[in-house]
Amino acid sequence: MSSATEIIHAVPVDELTGSISVPVYQTSTFVQEAPGVHKGYDYARTANPTRHALEQLIAKLEGGDAGFAFSTGLAAIDAVAKLLSTGDEIIAVDDLYGGAYRLFTHVYQKLGIKIHYVDTTDADQILALTNRNTKLIWIESPSNPTLKVSDIQQIGKIAKSINALLVVDNTFASPISQKPIKLGADIVIHSATKYIGGHSDLVAGLVVTKSKALSERIKFIQNASGGILGPWDCFLTIRGIETIDLRVRKQCANALQVAQYLQTKPEVDIVHYPGLASHKNHHIAVQQQNGLFGGIVSFSLKEDTAENAVRFVTHTTYFKLAESLGGVKSLICQPSAMTHASVPREKRLECGIQDSLIRLSCGIEDAQDLIDDLEKAFTCIHSQNEVFA
Ligand SMILES: *Cc1c(COP(=O)(O)O)cnc(C)c1O
Repeated sequence: MSSATEIIHAVPVDELTGSISVPVYQTSTFVQEAPGVHKGYDYARTANPTRHALEQLIAKLEGGDAGFAFSTGLAAIDAVAKLLSTGDEIIAVDDLYGGAYRLFTHVYQKLGIKIHYVDTTDADQILALTNRNTKLIWIESPSNPTLKVSDIQQIGKIAKSINALLVVDNTFASPISQKPIKLGADIVIHSATKYIGGHSDLVAGLVVTKSKALSERIKFIQNASGGILGPWDCFLTIRGIETIDLRVRKQCANALQVAQYLQTKPEVDIVHYPGLASHKNHHIAVQQQNGLFGGIVSFSLKEDTAENAVRFVTHTTYFKLAESLGGVKSLICQPSAMTHASVPREKRLECGIQDSLIRLSCGIEDAQDLIDDLEKAFTCIHSQNEVFA
């Protein structure tokens, strides 16, 4: 499923009433005719019709066997991590989402699961760490916040060769730009809080599985652990998906223009954006991202201090200073003090998260307004900092 038409019409019309939008089944339980005889639903943790509609929709959108909706992106990540047992090992991208890093390091490591962090843009680094205990290879592409692009197809082959599963956190790309299952991933994860919800008005997570066997295992974990998404938030997530094609295309176009503008600024050190020819893995992004390089741009300042970044992020008008990303309103943040504050500084610097790194999430405003907004913030650095005077 790739076209906007298909996505819109994959949202089912209600069979019972003809309702063109999916009804919110705000219920905890379902009446049975006889014990165990029911219409497919018995208790709302196990299954709910609104959630089921969302789960089928995301499975179609990602080209997987089944989808699962969780209360947050981290609950989705947690459900996948629960596939592991003591002694198992994960190889994960080194600039993994801060919350996933915290979960792996402070919860799963204690339970005897070993996590190796590597630069997954280099297949040799992955191969060097594989052994018979490697059960998951975990990547984000583009990654957060330095937008590293890993070759999903190549890593999928490595995973297959050692009998491990490839998990792709597809939050940054969105299913409009990238379909990891087609490229060889076994499991796709989304923080639906971001592009899928798209309006910064909910927190949700999704898992999509490639095979029936995996679907059954995740279904079991979802019901056993219980971190499901409520019906109202399922409705909002479906509503978000209806416009995702339009939103993501506009966000990607805005981000490309913003990245090109940032490249011309003398105050800027490095601009990270997979759509720029200067990006290390631009050629792979071209192959696997459907010509849509994402709505996130990050950049560091030549005068690499946290103070400079703070001045910048507090002087924009349209780019609102906030964590999160993917919504219709543009956001700006300083990862070292915000989204990645839980990662030790030394570790942060190793994977390119400098103190002055600034991350932009481009919304659907007019590109020129966004550029003018950034121009104003650069002027504020000048007026307050002797170095740039
Ligand atoms: C936000 C985010 C998550 C976590 O999702 P929540 O909905 O905040 O729990 C996971 N992965 C990535 C890449 C994210 O950006």
